[in-house]
Amino acid sequence: MFNLYFNTNDTQLIVTGKTFPIKDHLKKHGARWDAGRWVLPLNADSPLFRANLVEQCRLAVIAEKEAKELERAEQVKRIAYLHSPEFVKDALKAKAAGDGTYFWICCDQCRIVSHERQSVWCSACGADYGTHIESFFVRGRLRTGD
Ligand SMILES: [Zn+2]
Repeated sequence: MFNLYFNTNDTQLIVTGKTFPIKDHLKKHGARWDAGRWVLPLNADSPLFRANLVEQCRLAVIAEKEAKELERAEQVKRIAYLHSPEFVKDALKAKAAGDGTYFWICCDQCRIVSHERQSVWCSACGADYGTHIESFFVRGRLRTGD
């Protein structure tokens, strides 16, 4: 899952590997960052100290992974909301309240095609050309096939 490496010389304990998640912990124990590795006085070293660092790192890596999964789940939820009728309703409320953000949403029949492009599909507001109805809008303006 991750690697932490411990080395010693005559005076120092040197920690390398996946140290980023435990950098605060290392600092708290007097480690200093030196040329890409954490350096501690040799007397800080003990099997318990090393085991504790490994455990701290393990917990931090798990927490990081969980945070990422949560973020991903939130993102999925947000995208689903942006394509839901609830979003269109909320956007129309914001529009009515004078919020300029959703000027490109025409009515509650709108289907959001792309938020990025601010484009919608709305047959209710489409233009009837006799032979066909154009219903595709970009930033509130009807697009007629260009
Ligand atoms: Zn509409």
